[in-house]
Formats: sequence, structure tokens, C-alpha cells
Amino acid sequence: MKLARFGDDRIGIVRDDVIVDVTGIAGAVPGEWPPVAMNRLIANFAEWRHKLEAAARGQGVPLARVRLLTPVPWPSKVVAYPVNYHEHGAEMHVGYRANNQGFFLKPPSAVSGPSDPIVLPVNDGRRIDHECELAIVIGKQGRDIPREAYRDYIFGYSCLIDAVIRGKEERVARKAFDTFCPVGPWVVTEDEIGDAASQLQGTLWVNGEIKQDANTRDLVLDIPGMIEMASSVMTLYPGDIIATGTPAGVGPIRPGDTVKIQFERVGSMTLDVVQGDTGKHSIFAAPPEGA
Ligand code: MN
Repeated sequence: MKLARFGDDRIGIVRDDVIVDVTGIAGAVPGEWPPVAMNRLIANFAEWRHKLEAAARGQGVPLARVRLLTPVPWPSKVVAYPVNYHEHGAEMHVGYRANNQGFFLKPPSAVSGPSDPIVLPVNDGRRIDHECELAIVIGKQGRDIPREAYRDYIFGYSCLIDAVIRGKEERVARKAFDTFCPVGPWVVTEDEIGDAASQLQGTLWVNGEIKQDANTRDLVLDIPGMIEMASSVMTLYPGDIIATGTPAGVGPIRPGDTVKIQFERVGSMTLDVVQGDTGKHSIFAAPPEGA
């Protein structure tokens, strides 16, 4: 099942090229704040699944006629693994890997959707890069999750771009700008992917040119390992997102660019890159020492 948000904060199930509105069944109130209807749906999915599946057979509207929103706008956290592909470690000239370095967090406020542009902050010419990543959406609360049990805790998968200002400042400051974490176009439930999650091809294009193209089989720390590591530190909650790390081929995005990300069996989204007028701060005023 593909679960999406659309329009004025409605929840829908995507079936081929139509979307069926299940806002009422999901007990969602459009416009509520904080926007946690999808977290609630995820937490109750096992119980609500049959009525959602029944509703999904109803009349839909063409997907092309709706504005899709990011599927989970209020994760309690976005856990992100740095340098989780050897070839990306090589291009960044770093020796550490996610399996011995751990992870960082991106704030939920950085999450944007498949219809939103990536808004570049004002700065003095610092390089801002795309990173193509698979998103794992957590389905069940858990702590110290053993790797054998990882599938019980995954709700589904989505596409995620981990945008970043390159430099030596704290990683979170460089990766936390609003719209620096596009997630979408929807969440595909775990049962549709299964073991194939460990062999998914992910591709990213800038202006139609392939920049990143790699397979999750080459992850250094695999999906069970990521859930095991993150949950050893923090309780994971329904709707939490894990960004699995980017392969080689990262590169700059500039105003006017179009970025497309796709994971097989999950979906794709195409985003505009625009120049914003916020974000100027002296910490990003010039290239950092040594960069
Ligand atoms: Mn990343």
C-alpha cells in the first residue's frame, strides 16, 4: 500500500495513477497542529488496515490533479547515517564509516515534500549538495531492537534527499535548513518491499543527468544494523525516519536546477531548486578554514 498526504493535509492511498481519500477513516483532521495524523495512522495500522484496504478500492481522483505533501511531516526525529557507502567515503576522503561513526539527526522542520522546492539559503557561494538516500519509516515503538527483529519495526520506505552545505562546521547546522530533507512521494508499506529492501536501486538526476546510481546492497551498515544502532541509543517511535546514507556522486545543486530522485519499487519525485532570501549567518559567510 502506498500512503500519501495531499491537498490541505489530507491522507490518501495511491492506487496506480489515482489517489483515494481516506482522511476520515484515518481519523485525521486536516490542518490540525501538530500534524501527527500519519503518525497515528502508522501506530494503528495493523488495526485499521482492513478498513483502509476496503476504502482504497473506492473512487479516486487522478494523482496528477492533486498536490502531494510529504507523507510524515512530524517525525519525532530523522536519524541519518553519514558515509554509509565505501565509494562515497572515498570521494569525501574520509576513513570513517557509518558502522563505526554512528549517526546524526536532522530536525523535523527540515522535512519538505514532493511538491515543494529545495530552498537554498543565502550565503557567500558555499557549495550545497544533493545526497540520494532511501528513507526507512518506523512503524512501532522500540528500544534496543535486535537486528533479527528489524522488520517488525519498519512501516515502510520512501525517497529522501539529504541536502547539505559542504564544510567543516557542525554537520547538523549544515544539514538542518528548512527544505533540506525532502521526503516522498509517499510511503510504500514494508510488505510490498520485504527482503528487496537490501537490493534496491536508487538514482538521482540533476537537470536530467544521472549523478548518483547505486544499490542498497552496497550499504556498509545494513538496514537491520541501522535500526539496531539507532534504537540502542534512542527509543524509536512510529513515524520516525531513518536516512540510510548516500552513495558516491554527490554534487552541487543551484537555483534553477531540477532534481529527481527515484528508488525502484518505491517511487520518484522531481523537485525544483530555488534561491531563498533567508539563512544568512556569519558561520557560513566564507569557506571554512582548511576546506
Ligand atoms: Mn546523507
